[in-house]
Amino acid sequence: ETAAALVERLTAVVPDFPKPGILFRDVTPVFSDPVAFGRVCEALAAPFAIGGGFQAVAGIEARGFALAGGIAAQHQVGVLTVRKAGKLPGEVLSEQYALEYGEAELELRPGQLPQGTRVLVVDDVLATGGTAAATVTLLERAGYEAVGFASLLELDGLAGRERLEPRLPVTTLGRV
Ligand code: 5GP
Repeated sequence: ETAAALVERLTAVVPDFPKPGILFRDVTPVFSDPVAFGRVCEALAAPFAIGGGFQAVAGIEARGFALAGGIAAQHQVGVLTVRKAGKLPGEVLSEQYALEYGEAELELRPGQLPQGTRVLVVDDVLATGGTAAATVTLLERAGYEAVGFASLLELDGLAGRERLEPRLPVTTLGRV
């Protein structure tokens, strides 16, 4: 069974979560399945492992952390955690961005890896691309090079991919 087929079979579709009218894709069954987890991590990173490859994986809180950890262990690189505001101690870079309703803020601790480190960005779902774009900005402000974005799913009709490409190559395992 391919990684894409596993994502399609295991992802749960939850109506009216976290708010009425929203059709939420719950990918946590992909994480808990022992075959699927390793396989999706391999598939997410494969397109970026050629050429110069990547030297670190940035996971976006919270479901991106699980995927970043899996990919990083497979490729023997480390993880950067891109966190929601207020969770990281010490010096942080902050980036605010617009959500469908309201604002969100992500943070990154700078100075953890050498300048110019090539970083793959991962999350569970790509919707409007605002979260991914803010993450790329944080990585660039920290002096790293974002080399790609990978997620299990992209949501159709929200133009997340168009917002990131062609500057940042995007790989997803399904479009819903
Ligand atoms: P964006 O910034 O691209 O609009 O939204 C992407 C962020 O929202 C990701 O961090 C993702 O975890 C979360 N997200 C949006 N919609 C869904 C969904 O249907 N399922 C899941 N699991 N996460 C979602």
